[in-house]
Amino acid sequence: MNSRSCSILRKAFFAFTAICLITNNALFARAGGGGGGGHSSGGHSSGGGFGGGHSMGGGHSFGGGGIGFGFGAFGIIIGVILLIVYFILKAYFRNNKPEGALGAILGLIFAISGGGSDDDGYTSSAEGASLPYPAGLDEEKVKTSFLGIQDAWQKKDLKLVRKWISDGVYQRFNGQFIMMNKLSQVNKLSNIQIAKIRVANLESDGNYQTADVAIHFKMDDEFISEKYPQFNEKFRGDDDTEYWTFIKRNGPDTGKNLYNSNNCPNCGATFDVDMGEISRCGSCGTLTNNASYDWVLSEITQEADYSPGRSVANQEELKELTKHDDTFSIQRMEDVASNVFMQVMQVMGGEKPNKLDRFAIETVKNALLEERKRSGNIVFDRLYLNEVSMITFYKDSEKLHIVFSMKCTYQRVKAEEKLTLLDRELTSRNYTLTLSKNLKALQTPAKETVFSYECASCGSPYGDTTLDKCAYCDAPIIDYDHNWVLTQFQMS
Ligand SMILES: [Zn+2]
Ligand SMILES: [Zn+2]
Repeated sequence: MNSRSCSILRKAFFAFTAICLITNNALFARAGGGGGGGHSSGGHSSGGGFGGGHSMGGGHSFGGGGIGFGFGAFGIIIGVILLIVYFILKAYFRNNKPEGALGAILGLIFAISGGGSDDDGYTSSAEGASLPYPAGLDEEKVKTSFLGIQDAWQKKDLKLVRKWISDGVYQRFNGQFIMMNKLSQVNKLSNIQIAKIRVANLESDGNYQTADVAIHFKMDDEFISEKYPQFNEKFRGDDDTEYWTFIKRNGPDTGKNLYNSNNCPNCGATFDVDMGEISRCGSCGTLTNNASYDWVLSEITQEADYSPGRSVANQEELKELTKHDDTFSIQRMEDVASNVFMQVMQVMGGEKPNKLDRFAIETVKNALLEERKRSGNIVFDRLYLNEVSMITFYKDSEKLHIVFSMKCTYQRVKAEEKLTLLDRELTSRNYTLTLSKNLKALQTPAKETVFSYECASCGSPYGDTTLDKCAYCDAPIIDYDHNWVLTQFQMS
């Protein structure tokens, strides 16, 4: 067994154990906390009757207390048993060298669970052989990207990295910055050292390729709020691995490098310093981050949340349905889902509700605003989107509906004269959301526009006012013919 498949199996083992335990954790959070419980399901289920007959909408995941508890209790038992078995085997294997069939079986189980080579879970998976870099991506770009993001993060300013990050990544950071500013927080990083970089996984995804790059690093990390010092935290020599996913559209290597140049990859103009929400060149109008010029950073995943590959079922059918839209890819759809999710959370954390008018149907919007009213003026301390996965899709006579699961970690607080903690600590919660589009619209390639910031029909930027039609071309803003529409949003 080579070390690569070994590491995947080991991941699967831990992932399964973790799922058993986390499922249960989330359940306690839901059942236990006053606020936490109320925030969950109830009112705002699906939009306009989609979801109805389909599996996500109905029974199992949002099911009643009985089923939920049954699964949760079962989950914790399995999780605990797996952990016990793991430690017993580890101890046994270290002291004994069994032979024959027993030895082979134990050897296999032990290999899956990580071997005896080290006691440090994450160090081991940062090791292992690197796959070769795909054309156009290299260690220098990854390093520049990593260090550039750390710098942007501590300055809470994305202008220098905007040109090579996806809109979803932009929104993840933007959402966190908005919340950090409400709580007067900064996160200072220092002594940043990259210990190892390796290409962990490569995938083909529609007309795109994705590369997951494992970055093992150390840094000092100081979280500071002068106004609310109870949030302050300090870590020295924080040692971690993250998986950075880059995406590139297929095609000949352009030889362009967005990472070491401040010029438009299309027309050569020097970039405006502040691209803000939209990564368009001010001179020629090209979207620099559409992944046709260079590899674009489209997701950052902590090691504990990472699993290689995609889990959506029936990918062949999805490919068939979207074959005429050459900009469709699972990674890009997950990017749209993160974008939508982070904007919803910004509104839930007190930002202007008109963000929702750009992508949510009326029933979903009203349910979210109702929920916001119920929970009062909350702010999210750390608003961290751990994971986004396209899990399934279904169609009705008119539309394709794509369902995503999200895991998000935050602590809800009320920041008034005094700080009130609504969650005692950072808590992970799971959500599902559904994006829908007319099947007919998939017959033509989508215009490349910045989701929810530009008209998908004519490409004009939206102003800050609430309109239901584009001011330039009169196309409706919520439009199943041109854009993905949020038709369901729910804590699961
Ligand atoms: Zn240009
Ligand atoms: Zn328009």
